[in-house]
Amino acid sequence: MKSFVHVHARSVNEATELLAAYKGEAKLNAGGTDLLAVLKDRILPDYPKAIINIKSIPGLNTLYEEEDGVVVGALTTLTDLIKHLAQSYPLLKEAAMAVASPQIRNIATIGGNLCQDTRCWYYRYPDEIGGRLNCFRKGGRTCPAVAGENRYHAIMGGKQCYAVCPSDTAIALTALGATLRIAGTKGTRTLSIEEFFTPLGNVLASDEMITAIYIPKPSAAARQNFLKFTLRKPIDFGIVSAASLMTLEKGVCTAARIVLGAVAPTPVRALKAEEFLRGKEVTEETAAEAAALALEGAKPLSKNTYKLEIAKTLVKRVVNGS
Ligand SMILES: Cc1cc2nc3c(=O)[nH]c(=O)nc-3n(C[C@H](O)[C@H](O)[C@H](O)COP(=O)(O)OP(=O)(O)OC[C@H]3O[C@@H](n4cnc5c(N)ncnc54)[C@H](O)[C@@H]3O)c2cc1C
Repeated sequence: MKSFVHVHARSVNEATELLAAYKGEAKLNAGGTDLLAVLKDRILPDYPKAIINIKSIPGLNTLYEEEDGVVVGALTTLTDLIKHLAQSYPLLKEAAMAVASPQIRNIATIGGNLCQDTRCWYYRYPDEIGGRLNCFRKGGRTCPAVAGENRYHAIMGGKQCYAVCPSDTAIALTALGATLRIAGTKGTRTLSIEEFFTPLGNVLASDEMITAIYIPKPSAAARQNFLKFTLRKPIDFGIVSAASLMTLEKGVCTAARIVLGAVAPTPVRALKAEEFLRGKEVTEETAAEAAALALEGAKPLSKNTYKLEIAKTLVKRVVNGS
């Protein structure tokens, strides 16, 4: 274990000032369910000089109603999220329930779930076995998954790195049209969740953190669905997931948001499928056509073509509600 400074931040200001002072060489610790494993396994390209505990910041674990939605503090645990938002946001509840185990959900925070590091087995390859594997994400020149074991990797959107976004709540929050509240030393900003993820992580500057997530309230008539395909039932990251927020009038779709997870380095909105469904009756046939459009342009790697059919099936089911 390498030595590092550990600070209990008492305010968002203190946390962001510390992040700025360490110039990218500090890490925030929320629940620690991902960060501690990443540190112990020496995954990061550079070991941080400081760990800033943000669980000591009061008020960041609260949920409250605001205008036409709910504000969820970044330190809200997934268990609390499930407890308080199950009724209005069943889609988010399903996604949060699909994360890990009850013990992890009791500790893991929504902010940490969005910012967790990728699970790619090349990126997380232990140094102890055969030496350090420097993939593109760790500063290397190539992504070993392209010519290697890529069955869990991206089928779309991969360029230099084919690791997929591991966060289940990100998929649900994208379907719900959430916005993130971000604080830094220069002030605060809000950002649509769709602008947050990048192929190698997220857009946070080195002095920034998420403080809260605003989730607009869907209309009472909206149908919400989240499905996740895993190899094991308990505790497993998704092979593919899909979420939908469908507004229907007499069976006809007036608005749709459809999002795919674990198929690309970021959550993927199926814009063509959404556009296609608008004004159409939702049936087995139109749902199947929407699913085909959602996967149009996908380019599977050598060992993950199977993801295509799973993704199409999930999209069809979340659209059709079956
Ligand atoms: C066995 C196991 C199974 C899992 N299965 C799933 C799964 O199926 N689906 C899924 O989605 N996840 C899964 N996870 C991941 C888990 O959900 C995350 O570890 C957890 O959500 C991270 O939350 P945390 O509060 O513990 O974050 P931490 O571990 O404290 O932090 C994670 C990262 O986020 C950063 N961070 C934390 N909070 C903020 C903030 N407010 N602003 C900016 N950066 C921040 C930290 O600096 C760190 O880089 C699994 C984890 C384990 C261990």
